Amino acid sequence: MNWLIGLGLAGLIALVAGRMRWLTTGGALMATLVGASVFGAGGVSASIPMLAFFLSGSMLPHALGRPHKTDRRTAFQVAANGLAPMLCCWGVLLYPEMEPAFWLGYAASLATATADTWATEFGVRFSETAWMVTTGRRVPAGESGAISVVGTLSGMLGAHILAVFCTPLMGYGVQAWAVWGLGVGGMVLDSLLGATLQGRFQCAACGATGEQRLCCGASARLVRGVRWVDNNAVNLLSTLATAGAAILVWE
Ligand SMILES: [Zn+2]
Repeated sequence: MNWLIGLGLAGLIALVAGRMRWLTTGGALMATLVGASVFGAGGVSASIPMLAFFLSGSMLPHALGRPHKTDRRTAFQVAANGLAPMLCCWGVLLYPEMEPAFWLGYAASLATATADTWATEFGVRFSETAWMVTTGRRVPAGESGAISVVGTLSGMLGAHILAVFCTPLMGYGVQAWAVWGLGVGGMVLDSLLGATLQGRFQCAACGATGEQRLCCGASARLVRGVRWVDNNAVNLLSTLATAGAAILVWE
C-alpha cells in the first residue's frame, strides 16, 4: 500500500519538477522510481531528507543566481545521487533485520550528495580561489577536485542540515553525528576521486583543457583519469562508498 501511495506522490513531484524544467522525462521517471522506493520503505520520515536534498539541490542554483546551462537533470544524473539511497531502501525491505544499518547508509549517502551539491554551488558562487585537493595547486573554483574555504564550510553545513532532517528517521544522538561525519567524509572522497579518477581532456584544435570529452567538433585527448568517469560517475561512486561504509560501521 505504501508503495502505491509513494508511487503517486513521487510521480506527482517528478511531474511538477519536470514542469519547473528541473528534470528531463528520463530524469522524472528515475526520480519517480527513487521516490516510490523511499516512501515504500520508510514512509514520510524517510521522504523528508530525500525531499530536503532534492529541493535544496534544485533551488540553490536559482537562489544563488547562477542557473546552469544544462539545468534539467537526466536519468543518469538523478541516479548519480539517487541510486545509493534507493538501494539502501531496497535493503530495508529485503533484509528487515538490518534495517538500522540500511537507514544509516541511506542517510549518509544523502548527506554526501547534499554536501557535494552545496559545496559546489556556494564554492563557485562565492570563492575566488580554490585548491586542488591532491596537489594544493591554485585552480578556478568549480573545477573537479578543487576545494575552497567557502565551499567546504557550505558542504559541512549542508550535511549537518541533512542530518537534522534525518532525525525523524534515525533519532537524535550519535546517529545524527554519524550521518554528518559520513557526509563530510563522502564529500572529501568525492573531491579526491574528482582530482584523480575523473577524466580530464585537452582539445587538439584549440588547446583548451576541461571535463568535456568533445571540443571543437572532435574527440579531445585524455590527459588525466579514466575516459568514461565524469562528474556523475564520481558522485555515484562516492555516494555508494559512503552508504557501504555506513552499513559496515553499523554492523
Ligand atoms: Zn577545442
